[in-house]
Amino acid sequence: MARPNESRVAHLRDILDRANTGYYVDAQPLMADSEYDTLLAELAAIEGAFPECVDPSSPTQRVGGKPIAGFAQVAHRIPMQSIDNTYAIDDFLAWYRRCEKVIGHPIVLVADPKIDGVAVSLRYEQGRLACAVTRGDGTTGDDVTSNVRALRAIPLRLQSGGRGAGALPDVLEVRGEIYMPNAEFERINAQRETRGEPLLANARNATAGTLKSLDPSVAASRRLAFIAHGRGEWSAHHDIASHWVFLAALRAWGIPVNHNAHLCATAEHAVAAIESFAHARSSLPFGVDGMVVRVNDFAEQDQLGMTGKSPRWIVAFKYPPERAVTVLCRVEWQVGKGGTLTPRATMEPVLISGSTVTHATLHNLEEISRKDIRLGDYVFVEKAGEVIPQVIGPVLSKRSGAERSIEAPTKCPSCGGEIVQEGAKLFCVSATCPAQFRERLRWFVGRDQMDIDGLGERLIDQLVDAKLVVHFADLFRLPREAAANLETEAVLKSGKPSRRRLGEKTVDAIMQSAAQARSRGLARVLAALGIRHLGTAAAKTLARSFTDIHALMAATSRQLEELPDFGTITAESIAHDFATPTLRETIAQLEAVGVDFTSRDYRSPESRAAAESLPAEDPLRGKTVVITGTFEQFERRALTELLEIRGCKVSGSVSTKTNIVIAGESAGSKLDRAQELGITVWNEAQLRDVLDALPPL
Ligand SMILES: [Zn+2]
Repeated sequence: MARPNESRVAHLRDILDRANTGYYVDAQPLMADSEYDTLLAELAAIEGAFPECVDPSSPTQRVGGKPIAGFAQVAHRIPMQSIDNTYAIDDFLAWYRRCEKVIGHPIVLVADPKIDGVAVSLRYEQGRLACAVTRGDGTTGDDVTSNVRALRAIPLRLQSGGRGAGALPDVLEVRGEIYMPNAEFERINAQRETRGEPLLANARNATAGTLKSLDPSVAASRRLAFIAHGRGEWSAHHDIASHWVFLAALRAWGIPVNHNAHLCATAEHAVAAIESFAHARSSLPFGVDGMVVRVNDFAEQDQLGMTGKSPRWIVAFKYPPERAVTVLCRVEWQVGKGGTLTPRATMEPVLISGSTVTHATLHNLEEISRKDIRLGDYVFVEKAGEVIPQVIGPVLSKRSGAERSIEAPTKCPSCGGEIVQEGAKLFCVSATCPAQFRERLRWFVGRDQMDIDGLGERLIDQLVDAKLVVHFADLFRLPREAAANLETEAVLKSGKPSRRRLGEKTVDAIMQSAAQARSRGLARVLAALGIRHLGTAAAKTLARSFTDIHALMAATSRQLEELPDFGTITAESIAHDFATPTLRETIAQLEAVGVDFTSRDYRSPESRAAAESLPAEDPLRGKTVVITGTFEQFERRALTELLEIRGCKVSGSVSTKTNIVIAGESAGSKLDRAQELGITVWNEAQLRDVLDALPPL
């Protein structure tokens, strides 16, 4: 390549930055994604050939490529305070009157929608992104710079001048929310569904999980957005004396701000904005749970000051979770992997939070009778940021007397087999139940088990319905032609008839992935089989203790009982299952198609004994732990197992005996109690750091 043309480099950087501004700040895309990628590739090629051209703020430098070890804790120079909430207009007006009394005259307000995202503070020095820190506890947060740099919504360098913004401040800390737009949330889930991966539960948790991922390429692959709503430390600007002007300046510097912000001359205007937005919010492309109203003038903000924990000049009006009333038409019982029957409500279609809802969960029989929900009832349905809507309860005033009670099924809706009740749960215990097999197949190909790509839910349904897959082993010997003729996931999802078929190429790709999956080793394949009492953790223990499946199948229940964390029930159940012809046949068939049942994790009894007598510096061994909230990367039960195998006692309630509380998203009273008692609290990232640092078992 010839000497780099400096003006071409500058031009490419400029046009790529402007493309991001157009998309994220002005909501006016300047170019297609493919065009962006082509220009980015050209810039990367020049920078690759001429390393002296590389600039840390270049659009090519968004992803460093290397996963990071963990997140440093950074103290906020100016704390990120929480905002007081109000839930009623009267309370809001009372807040306004208190402010007005202090200031002595009517106050101009700014109202803007409160986005349900993850709060961060972005620090720009001389116009360049220096650091990005999560809110954390408000005083200290996690340094997530490497992930934030990967987000195209966030400028790496600010645009100076232009559109009357004035000079850039030397230091500018912008506070705002990183969030996942609804369309992106749906795109990722559609993709995960095709790959057979577990779906993201809600956009907010998914955003938090993305920012806490140790691999910045995850952030780069998700189109998270950002909206600025405030300031931290900054070299104040004489021309910018109010929030409204500040927002305009941010926009001119290339930082996205809310397009739905309102300047309100009176409290009544703000009330009108709150009320009209209650209806408009469901049509926005992102989740909004309230309206933030603040005093516009910076000097007036200073005059109002702080209470103990929050500023007096700002308040959040929270909308109730969206709820709708509709008629409960019928209840179906869905059969899960272990034969669990779960009631699912079908209702008359109703619009909630921008999407039409026809199905909702009823949890279990106990919930149904506790809430006294009947067929034909008008019911409240709520969707509070979660994917699966819930039936909250019946509208008793609308009962006609014609409603009928919801009966537990007497036989399995899929196979007609016998139903067994254990506590609140119902199970189909038939070994040949097709619905169970479908669920077990989904589990078998899942990412943490055999990890076979390309087998989404609907494709699995078709494979089972067409009897192309009757045993797990059939996945490794799909008939090419018949499978190629199945419909694609996308077609089925759209619900529109089409002639689009899977095609032989796709089938080949699935087969290739399956061929690779044959050598995952004993621990993975054992967990994949979906045997009762044999989850991921137990499978690991077994793989450490036995050289291969035959040694394991020869073990007596007494031998199993001696393994760490194996109780009598677990040991007997597993030994019993390995003696059944069905499971033995399944294993023999898988061996026949080349699945490797040799252990990768086997350790001799001597080395295991040595590992078990490790000194107590292990931060988990012997600790009493409470888990609360939800996690992006851990399923609750699997996490419990994992901690137990690490020597923790997992308890349900926080007390003075608790050593560690592991708090995920939406952690509630248990977290409060832990803080009250001064107990160590770890978030998901901290837990992962601890687990990663431990030697393998
Ligand atoms: Zn069944």
